[in-house]
Amino acid sequence: MQYDIIIIGAGPGGIFSAYELSRLAPQLKIAVFEGGAPLEKRRCPIDGEKVKNCIKCQTCSIMKGFGGAGAFSDGKYNITNEFGGTLYEHIGRSKALELMNYVDQINCQYGGESTKLYSTSNSKFKTLCLQNKLRLLDASVRHLGTDINYIVLKNLYTYLKGHIEFYFYTEIQSVIKIDGGYRVESRDAVYTCQKCIISVGRSGSKWMEKICRDMEIPTHSNRVDIGVRVELPAAVFSHVTDELYESKIVYRTEKFEDMVRTFCMNPHGIVVNENTNGIVTVNGHSYEDPKLHTDNTNFALLVAKHFSEPFKDSNGYGESIARLSNMLGGGVMVQRFGDLIRGRRSTMARIDESWVRPTLAATPGDLSLVLPKRILDGIIEMIYALDKIAPGTANDDTLLYGVEVKFYNMEVELDKNLETRQNGLFIIGDGSGVTHSLSHASASGVYVARYIAGKESI
Ligand SMILES: Cc1cc2nc3c(=O)[nH]c(=O)nc-3n(C[C@H](O)[C@H](O)[C@H](O)COP(=O)(O)OP(=O)(O)OC[C@H]3O[C@@H](n4cnc5c(N)ncnc54)[C@H](O)[C@@H]3O)c2cc1C
Repeated sequence: MQYDIIIIGAGPGGIFSAYELSRLAPQLKIAVFEGGAPLEKRRCPIDGEKVKNCIKCQTCSIMKGFGGAGAFSDGKYNITNEFGGTLYEHIGRSKALELMNYVDQINCQYGGESTKLYSTSNSKFKTLCLQNKLRLLDASVRHLGTDINYIVLKNLYTYLKGHIEFYFYTEIQSVIKIDGGYRVESRDAVYTCQKCIISVGRSGSKWMEKICRDMEIPTHSNRVDIGVRVELPAAVFSHVTDELYESKIVYRTEKFEDMVRTFCMNPHGIVVNENTNGIVTVNGHSYEDPKLHTDNTNFALLVAKHFSEPFKDSNGYGESIARLSNMLGGGVMVQRFGDLIRGRRSTMARIDESWVRPTLAATPGDLSLVLPKRILDGIIEMIYALDKIAPGTANDDTLLYGVEVKFYNMEVELDKNLETRQNGLFIIGDGSGVTHSLSHASASGVYVARYIAGKESI
């Protein structure tokens, strides 16, 4: 089957490249190949009753399918160059912001118009952070919420399926350069195209490494973020979340001068499992609909670990730590902050007596047996620093789930147009290592689509 363009992966990167191509180059024959299910068929079996923990499905519905890893996410589209990726290094800061704003406009047009755009500009909270050795990063954030995010994706799919051919449950196994383009192979079929856009996200990271090796595309890798997910009563952070919804706060530890940061804040949200290549880690999200709100807020505290020569496998390091927690806890582990600092494991009885009701059924345990001392020390220091701007953060009953790991895909060597050294092969989104967020991944898709359609170049 011959296409002009094949897009591999139907996450935000793939969706937005398909969307923009359908608009700017409707004459092109385009196909999207997705290893997971269509949106309405995606179901995580964890129901909190019969199935409480991750059963390691062959295809993880949280990570794969139409909408990608973002489908059941909190739908927080951060419009900023301060975090979420380094797209600006390729396409420039103002272009990156322009495209993130464009993505926001499309999201609003397809169902997100009633949602709120929060901003840190003019926030009094910035000063309070600085007075307490913390730094609030600048951003605007559109919170679609898990429910509206789903509606936006559903509407986008309704539009796209009239213009683009979608192949679901079709994991691409290889991409091979041929005369005039690429041969793209699934288990039981072969397709060809002139140009290929790969947008396989974090779940496709191992496959991406193989493709880069096979096609001699250079990659670099040396970072992983490791930490915990904090869950506490929503009231403790409400003065921050009511105004900003999501705040990215950075702290430099006194002991080691390591950077610890908050990540993915979910007011009134829930803590969830995440399964990446069979390893269960923790994440969180929340709904826009107040009826689905919980009494808790959750956010991650992460310490960035950069490795220098000769060690290259930073993701392998993060995986080993996550595996250790899976080994001890059978999945995600939870511990009260009070138990952690007293050097004892949490038990079901202590969790039951606690004033914070966990929103994820995790195994009570001892995170100090899992996390390296330096990382744990950084997290504890940060909790006390946050306690100064949000008193109650360091309460004994604050829950810490572990481990949370942010795996960074190795960074693929790309030019300013996100094209590899193989002519006509583009790598976008989180799979490229350039982006780590919904807005950056989507913007990278728009950028490449415009470039291919001849509407964008710098
Ligand atoms: C629970 C959760 C909550 C999150 N919350 C937020 C948030 O609020 N804000 C934010 O900015 N980010 C959030 N993120 C991160 C965000 O989802 C990602 O940054 C974003 O989805 C990346 O988009 P992408 O298109 O690059 O990749 P992905 O969304 O990962 O999509 C890649 C797609 O490619 C498919 N694929 C992989 N390999 C193949 C193959 N060989 N053949 C065919 N298909 C393949 C996968 O099935 C997947 O559907 C969250 C992530 C999770 C897991």
